[in-house]
Amino acid sequence: MHLSLLKLRFFRNLENQELSFPPEGVAIVGPNAQGKSNLLEAIYYLETFRSFRGARTEQLATFGEDSFRVWARLGSSKNSEAPATEVAAAYHRASDRRKITVDGAEPVRIGDVVGNLGAVIFSPSDIAIVSGGPSQRRRFLDIVLSLNDPGYLSALQNFKRVLNNRNAALRADQPMSVVQAWDEPLIRSGGLVMMARFLWVEKWCANFREYYETVSGGISASMDYEPNVAVGACDKEIIHDAYAKALDVGWSRDLRSRNTGSGPHRDELVLSLTRDSHSSEIREFGSGGQRRTAALALRLVEGDSIRQTRNVDPILLLDDAFAELDESRRDRVFELMDSGRFGQVIITAPRESDIHFRGGALQCWGIRKGQICA
Ligand code: ATP
Ligand code: MG
Repeated sequence: MHLSLLKLRFFRNLENQELSFPPEGVAIVGPNAQGKSNLLEAIYYLETFRSFRGARTEQLATFGEDSFRVWARLGSSKNSEAPATEVAAAYHRASDRRKITVDGAEPVRIGDVVGNLGAVIFSPSDIAIVSGGPSQRRRFLDIVLSLNDPGYLSALQNFKRVLNNRNAALRADQPMSVVQAWDEPLIRSGGLVMMARFLWVEKWCANFREYYETVSGGISASMDYEPNVAVGACDKEIIHDAYAKALDVGWSRDLRSRNTGSGPHRDELVLSLTRDSHSSEIREFGSGGQRRTAALALRLVEGDSIRQTRNVDPILLLDDAFAELDESRRDRVFELMDSGRFGQVIITAPRESDIHFRGGALQCWGIRKGQICA
């Protein structure tokens, strides 16, 4: 899939404009505060209908304007026979309502149309996935799995609802039987969450290692799933038994803390550097560039996940991806982009000298005060 046409109206500081994107992508270069991240935010809004920077929808309308609209036409890159898709999102401040359409039709639920673009965004704030607490990495897993594993989101939502109910019963000093009535649904929904995480990490850990090694130019890294409930194998029965036992063993602790201590809400995704036989967690021992490299490797794996589940080349949106990388790492990222594994790449940087790949074939656009000059 690739973005072929984008129309913007009153999105952040961007001028109202219509942009035709080449199928191989484009580099967008301009000084700070001109609208580079805003442009990628507008594009990625059509993937998840949320700001990738965590902004509320009403903040996306240009200051002083009552509404915004983003519209895109997507073309298939591999098969030109495939019909183009059109995705649009509009927001009106007065009614605080959004209107989302795919090929002109409004979906029943937004959940039915997320992931239409097949895009991955890499931004400087991704460093938090690597450097932050375990909840940041669980959040990364939850978003990737929600977009790529049918059934994951509803299992996760069930789990969270049951967990809240069980914790509320603990806090209200309810009798044991009332609290433990939640155990069975907790184990069932939590088991699905654990199983999906287990399989995802198992499937993609080799790619993570490969991307990390490629960009770092030597040193290796690993991605491991460390479930809070120790399970020996990804088997429904084994996971259910292990979780039941963990709740059993943890009962007096739960009673004391009035909180459920066992389950996937305490899982960890461990990212480590591996040198010889020594391994150290990147979040504790990694340098700035190593963290940045690990974050990029996670996003590239996310792209692989999209390619596999949706059978399209992912669109890579790279926002200032090279800020902390040295020249050789930067060049190896470009080599990766050139390897033919990725489809359209839309990349931003403050300096043109930061960008040189696709044999110089990538178009370079300037941006000033929200106006793109192609
Ligand atoms: P940098 O290189 O520093 O990352 P950038 O080109 O990515 O810069 P953006 O984050 O896109 O910059 O922001 C561009 C400008 O848009 C900033 O001056 C910002 O304050 C402004 N801006 C943000 N939200 C809005 C809005 N809702 N309406 C108008 N302008 C906005
Ligand atoms: Mg920016």
